[in-house]
Amino acid sequence: MSHDIAAEIRRLHSELPEGVRLVAVSKFHPAEAIREAYDAGQRLFGESRVNELLEKEAVLPSDINWHFIGHLQTNKVRRLMGKVSMIESVDTERLLELIDSESRRAGVLTRVLMQVHVAQEETKFGFSPEEVIDYFSRHAFCTLTNTHICGVMGMASNTDDMERVRADFSAIADVFTRVRQICGDELLGFDVISMGMSGDWPIAVAEGSNLVRVGTAIFGERQYI
Ligand SMILES: *Cc1c(COP(=O)(O)O)cnc(C)c1O
Repeated sequence: MSHDIAAEIRRLHSELPEGVRLVAVSKFHPAEAIREAYDAGQRLFGESRVNELLEKEAVLPSDINWHFIGHLQTNKVRRLMGKVSMIESVDTERLLELIDSESRRAGVLTRVLMQVHVAQEETKFGFSPEEVIDYFSRHAFCTLTNTHICGVMGMASNTDDMERVRADFSAIADVFTRVRQICGDELLGFDVISMGMSGDWPIAVAEGSNLVRVGTAIFGERQYI
């Protein structure tokens, strides 16, 4: 069944509360599908692979904002510099420092989120809540020159247990709140909580998300080939 991408984009924008932004997750979908969403007014897209993002970025309108949302290998950081408006999936301090040095080298400022890992299983990527708190307690971000940490990103456990999902989102939002308490005015522009996907974004928004990343509900099922 083909998806009415424009209708799904419009529906999501009408359902999302004011102040909650939508990342249309276009991974594994062709540039033509992105173009349909673009023509419906969507300008913010998420991709999880560097090659795929760069191929699409090259052929699509330049006023698209790309968010990188996948696991980023250190040897691919350089290629993303200046191409993305945000890297949401920073999962180690080493990667953060590398993004900073590569941003300096390229003469750009890179906006990032720290990926927080709270879910029970699967993806092993992300900082633990304790690691994030420790990073900010040490004020380690003060050494960054070309990287702006804008907030946190996280995923809930992949389960039908909606109370578990809610608890995971609540734990991610709690990390965000604690960082703000620890750093106060020293940390400017730390205001993004990215959580919620096709199956759970209403719960994420109820728990404080202001950036949802929705793929399947817009573009249909992905064909992994
Ligand atoms: C694929 C992906 C999404 C979108 O998931 P859907 O269930 O298709 O909405 C959101 N966030 C991340 C990090 C992803 O990798």
